[in-house]
Order: sequence, then structure tokens, then C-alpha cells
Amino acid sequence: MRTQARLIGSFQYRNLRYTKNHPLRIPRVSLLLELLFALELLKEEELTESRNAIWEELTLFHEEDYLKALEECDRCQCVRKEYRERFNIGTYENPVSPAMWRGSLLATGSSVQAVELFTENYIPFNPAGGMHHAYPSKAKGFCFINDPGVAIQSLLKKGYKKVLYIDLDAHHCDGVQDFFYEDDRVFVLSVHQSPEYAFPFTKGYLHERGSGKGRGYNLNLPLPEGINDSEFLYVLEGALPVVLEIFKPEIYVLQLGTDSLEEDYLSKFKLSNWGFLKAFDTVRDMLGNGIYLGGGGYHPIALARAWSLVWCRLTDRDVPTFLNDGAKKVLFSVDFEEFDEDTDKGYMFQTLLDKPREGQVRKEVKELLEKALNYYK
Ligand SMILES: [Zn+2]
Repeated sequence: MRTQARLIGSFQYRNLRYTKNHPLRIPRVSLLLELLFALELLKEEELTESRNAIWEELTLFHEEDYLKALEECDRCQCVRKEYRERFNIGTYENPVSPAMWRGSLLATGSSVQAVELFTENYIPFNPAGGMHHAYPSKAKGFCFINDPGVAIQSLLKKGYKKVLYIDLDAHHCDGVQDFFYEDDRVFVLSVHQSPEYAFPFTKGYLHERGSGKGRGYNLNLPLPEGINDSEFLYVLEGALPVVLEIFKPEIYVLQLGTDSLEEDYLSKFKLSNWGFLKAFDTVRDMLGNGIYLGGGGYHPIALARAWSLVWCRLTDRDVPTFLNDGAKKVLFSVDFEEFDEDTDKGYMFQTLLDKPREGQVRKEVKELLEKALNYYK
């Protein structure tokens, strides 16, 4: 029986940051660990130290030329013009920094560890994972190594024949979708901001349904701005049973980007972490335990709170009603200029769990789901 959860993380990420002014320069995994320890929600033995991915794991998804270029740029912490043009490295979006190669190696090794832990009957969560925009030979959307892609490839290598990838990040998982687009062993389900107004702009539309031998195992749910808890849950609860019916997955990988939360300044969704947690519960209630990865998320406090909730669920711990002094100290110590001083965000420093942000499910959201599912009926 699968009972024990493992958090795969490391304090090494503290020294593997993106460049100044980059949305990902913020503390994420280290902050989550500090918060969980302060709240006494994590024991040392539940934490698995992250390891680096090895070359054979990286090449399950990536081209060697690209990997060698990343390695070279990491050595000099600089970029050649040729590499910038060919591989999209060393741009504002994908800057050269310790996070680029060393941080990605660690995050990707952790996703493979998650696969290994799952096969050893643990419930694994790698909060550093979920870098879903990277392409085999191109950096994209702050992502250099596509660790979900590597994890899925590892599962296929282990003999799994039906892998469901669910992506709840506010942005479409273009790198993962395109890699497995013709592969009938992988179903990609993504709920995200419509590319009509949000990154990656060119991918994530409803008509992208995969092109494998079958009917195509890809389901995109591109949503309008301002999605509330009720709307997010409406599409997820509506889509999942249909996906399970037509695909019958053996295993699933869930990407848990927190940029769908209202506090996140890089997306236009308005979820509470109550809704985020309910979405997580919905997946787990329908599918049992899976492999859990982090994802986007640019408000460090909102991110650490949301992933702490996920950890409480994975370990069957009660969510504490109030934050203790140690936890408050951890959160107050975060240096984050985007913190909105004008709005009362005091609640983020008092509790872990938000009040629900429910509301009406708009007609266009209902119609979108109907249209998306009609194809599979
Ligand atoms: Zn995102």
C-alpha cells in the first residue's frame, strides 16, 4: 500500500538563482522547505535530497548540441551569439545564470527521482519540477530542461504504456505537448489561460488534439481572463472523467504551477489556494496517487503557501489554522518588490488556506468545455 510521501528538494537552490529582475529570481523550493520546517509539517526523513540528472536522462528529451551549449555557457556564465540565436539562451527570458544549467540539472534529477520513488511505492512531490516550456533544442519561457518530458520518457522506458500528464499551470505546456503530440502512449491535458492573450501565444488552442494513430490524445482547455475557483473546478471536473474513459491511464504526472492564483502577477486567473487545493483533490480523488511536480509561480509567498497545502494532503496532515511565529518570520524575511503594499495581503502572513473565491461559471466557459469534450464523444 502506497502510504508515505516524499518531498524531493534541496537548499542548494538558494545558490542557483536566476539573474536579478527575472521573475524566477525569487526563493521557491528553499522557501517551501523553510516554511514547512517552521510549521513542523516536514520531518527530515520525509525529505529526499535532490540529485543532478545524468546525461542519459537529459537526452531522453533533449538534443546533445543544445545540452553541450548549456554546459559551455554555464562554465563561462556567458553566451555566444550563435547560441543565443540557435538555442534561445542568454536572452532576457532565458538568461545565463546558475539556475540555467545547474539548477535545471537538479530539478530534472529530482523529477527522475520522483519516478523512481513512485515505483518504490512512495508518493513523490518535486516542487522544483514542471518546467514545461523547454523544447528539445531550445530554451523557452524561463525553462531550459523539460523535466516533465524527461519524467514521462523515464516512465515509458520503464514499460508504462498509458501515461496521463495533467498540467494546471496558468500557461500552456507547449514543450510537453509538442514532444508527445504523435505518441499514443501519452495523453496531455492542460487547463490554462487562452493563448489568445497569454504566453506561449502560438500553442494551447482547442483544435490541437494530438495526431497519433488514434484520435489524438491531447486536450487543451484555453480559458478567458479572470477564472475563479468555480470555473476552474467546473472544467477540470468535467474533463477528467471523459479523459479517463477514453484513455484509461496507468499512471499520471500532475504539474502544479501556482501562477493560476490571484496573487500571481504574471497571470490573469483569480484562483484562491482553496480552489487550487480542491483542483488537486479532484485529480487525486479520481485517479489515486500520482507523481507531483511544481511549475510556474512568481509570488513566492503565494507559492510556498499553496505547495504547503499540497504537502499536507500528501502526508494526511491537517492544515494548520494559523501560522506560528516561526512561519511568519520565514515569510516576512522574503525580499520581494512586487509585493503589493497598497492592498491588504495581511492574510497571507496569518494563515495557509485562503477563503474560496467562488463565483458564477460564465457561459463561454461552459461552452468551451462542451466543445472540447464533443470531439471525444
Ligand atoms: Zn506558468
